[in-house]
Amino acid sequence: MGNSILLKNASIIDGTGSVPYSGHIQIIDDKIVSVSKEEIKPEKENTETINLEGKFIMPGLIDAHCHISFDEPKSNDELFFHRREGLAAIIAGTNALKVLQSGVTSFFDADSLYSVGVDLRDAIESGIIQGPKMAVGGNALITSAGGTAGRLIPDEGKRGYGAVVTSKDEIVLEIRRQIKMGVDWIKIHVSGMVPRQTSEGELQAWSLDELKLACDTAHELGIPVVGHCRGAGSVKDSLLAGMDMILHGTYMDEEGLELMIDKNIPLVPTFTFQANLIDYAERMDASKDYKDIFEKEIQDNVPMFRKAFEAGVPFLCGSETGFSVTPYGDWHYKELEVFVDKLGLTPLEAITCGTKNASQAMRRDDIGVIAEGKVADLLVLSEDPSKDVSVLGNKELIEKVFLSGKEVDLNPAPKRIKDPSGWRISSYSNKILEK
Ligand SMILES: [Zn+2]
Repeated sequence: MGNSILLKNASIIDGTGSVPYSGHIQIIDDKIVSVSKEEIKPEKENTETINLEGKFIMPGLIDAHCHISFDEPKSNDELFFHRREGLAAIIAGTNALKVLQSGVTSFFDADSLYSVGVDLRDAIESGIIQGPKMAVGGNALITSAGGTAGRLIPDEGKRGYGAVVTSKDEIVLEIRRQIKMGVDWIKIHVSGMVPRQTSEGELQAWSLDELKLACDTAHELGIPVVGHCRGAGSVKDSLLAGMDMILHGTYMDEEGLELMIDKNIPLVPTFTFQANLIDYAERMDASKDYKDIFEKEIQDNVPMFRKAFEAGVPFLCGSETGFSVTPYGDWHYKELEVFVDKLGLTPLEAITCGTKNASQAMRRDDIGVIAEGKVADLLVLSEDPSKDVSVLGNKELIEKVFLSGKEVDLNPAPKRIKDPSGWRISSYSNKILEK
């Protein structure tokens, strides 16, 4: 006896950007088998019929940038030095459920601590624990020049989510090793911060030759490559090397933009981390330096991103969830809001970026839209997100979440009593005693 559900009289926002319409959706097992403005006769006798008059239905959100294994660190020190493998995996499982219950039915985790991402994806796919669909990278490949954690990255070996590669041989070895272990993507930390840099954005930490080698090695085994790129050179060389998706992409120049358009490469700007730090700096007692840098980064890049959007570059919503600034289950929708407020997208366009477009990060074309034959990953809302995307950030307005045709229990899991010992940095004090 298969699962048969008929959703009736809903206002349907299908994820393609089409004007919402009132209609009906028939689900059998995990698939949408029909969508119509006309009445649908229940497919089977045991069909469960749900009347959604006055409600809104859209594809489940897809978060194209989410770090499920980090568990909300407040600093790079905590992230790189205070996480253990077994516990990181167990906790990631509980965080995955939070993400799902907030309306995210798929996410892309570009890099994780140890190999937590691959293991969690496999556990979810096997039905061992409940969570969104996942596409995962392994450890981000970093050169000895470092990434966004600067000196905390060792000269060689592994640390946190990074694998440091010191030669061309090591690039090839690490990529083949990760692909053997089952990653969906290879992630490269193309740019990083060095103390004395003079250029805008971050410094390019990989050469074009190294990037080409990495892309060729991964592509030979059928696996795409994604790059963390902040800075004109890193965007351009990554695209020249054959990279398949760009995270951040800030300070991209005209040449980079031309390449991105020609090659039709998706862009995941990921402004949510910065936007939250700016919006809630006081509440979080956040660093003023970071606030200023991030404010400038958004302002500096809005015109170029707007141009890219208008030129047809696929924009994907990614929230950078996983840090103290972006806790699990709370901010996945916020990138849609930023796209509307800062880049001037309509709510419908932003929804497409968070559903249909974001499915490109999952390398799947059977999710992210409501249409016949697609997987039934759906959200039912009591207010209209096509008028105001912030509806998606209010859990009280998310009435139902369907994952592969099954309704998800939205009762929150029990709250954590405390953090396991050694999990967070424990300071003697927050300030130095002044005499
Ligand atoms: Zn990230």
